[in-house]
Amino acid sequence: MNPYDFARIDWSKPPERRKPVWHHHLVEPGKRLFSGSLEVDIYAETPLFVANSGVTPIDPKRPAQSMQNKQGDYIIPGSSLKGMLRSVVEALGNSCLTLYDGDYEGHRVHYEERVPKSFQHCRDATNLCLACRTFGMLKGGDIFLGKVNIGDAVSYPGKAWKYDPIYTAVLVEPKPRHEAFYLDEKLQYISGRKFYFHHSPGQLLTENRLIYFGKNQILANRYIQPLDIESSFHSRVDFTNLEPDEFGMLLLAITLEDEMRHKIGYGKPMGLGSVELRPINLTLVDYSTRYKSHGQPGTKGGKTEYQGAAMWTEVLYEHIDAFIERDLSRLAMDDLSRIWRWPPDPTVDYYYPSKRDWFDTEDSIGKRIADTKNVP
Ligand SMILES: [Zn+2]
Repeated sequence: MNPYDFARIDWSKPPERRKPVWHHHLVEPGKRLFSGSLEVDIYAETPLFVANSGVTPIDPKRPAQSMQNKQGDYIIPGSSLKGMLRSVVEALGNSCLTLYDGDYEGHRVHYEERVPKSFQHCRDATNLCLACRTFGMLKGGDIFLGKVNIGDAVSYPGKAWKYDPIYTAVLVEPKPRHEAFYLDEKLQYISGRKFYFHHSPGQLLTENRLIYFGKNQILANRYIQPLDIESSFHSRVDFTNLEPDEFGMLLLAITLEDEMRHKIGYGKPMGLGSVELRPINLTLVDYSTRYKSHGQPGTKGGKTEYQGAAMWTEVLYEHIDAFIERDLSRLAMDDLSRIWRWPPDPTVDYYYPSKRDWFDTEDSIGKRIADTKNVP
């Protein structure tokens, strides 16, 4: 079966845009803004590999290692975590489409005309969708910095283990000209936002050697040593002046549902990078009481800390439920909860249909992703 599917977009509900609130003085009295930080633990549920962004020459004899900081701890960069959470917010929060600004991955298909105007990337910093208000927007010289900052996730000492070195699978993606994959059933608009299925931990797609393509002998795969299951990391999400819908959406994007997991890092189509995000500690700072001498009981300079069950019952559930009730895109959640279902179905094999041939045959015309289940 194809290793990814799309979270559909409800075209009847365009992104709700408004002016971002970035200071508590700008908000009407009685309306609360949320500032503070959420500490999050991250657990690898499958092997995980974070590619080093620096260009390093490939040594065919030595497996590349997952990214480390100067102290030698393994890390998942905050920018990767932010990108992952933003993609969830964009889908579940019915936001604008930042990834479909024009050509798709350098191909000649113009997706702009496949996205209704009201869903195209926000362009005005005073009129932003939920994702752009929360995570920021940069478009055509207009900029809004966003209100969420995510630190690098750092491995806990003694809690990162190495998996065996592997040669990654050579997967050739269908090109966007296979319109049926990328467009909805009426071939009018794009299918939605792309997410990869989880694989069972033992079902990685690998080769048994490095593979070279063509006359120029271009390397088609990589030799890597991922981190093993149960490797654990810690990160902190800082947020400032979030409106209730932004706060609820951020919390939902982090916690998802019990039977869902996130996917991050290198090799998603091969079964790498399934992770669980677990909030462990929440600090809320109430700026309206921060500078007064009498805070609420249990608060200190306007700061309130929550942990464990109390964190869930006193804060998280309330704001997540309010978001689900009022703002969640149900269509996208139905799809994402199926694609990111955990544990995965161990009877499904994932691969691109016959790797490279199927897409160029007559049989492939008009086929949709579910049809790839039966491609030999
Ligand atoms: Zn936007």
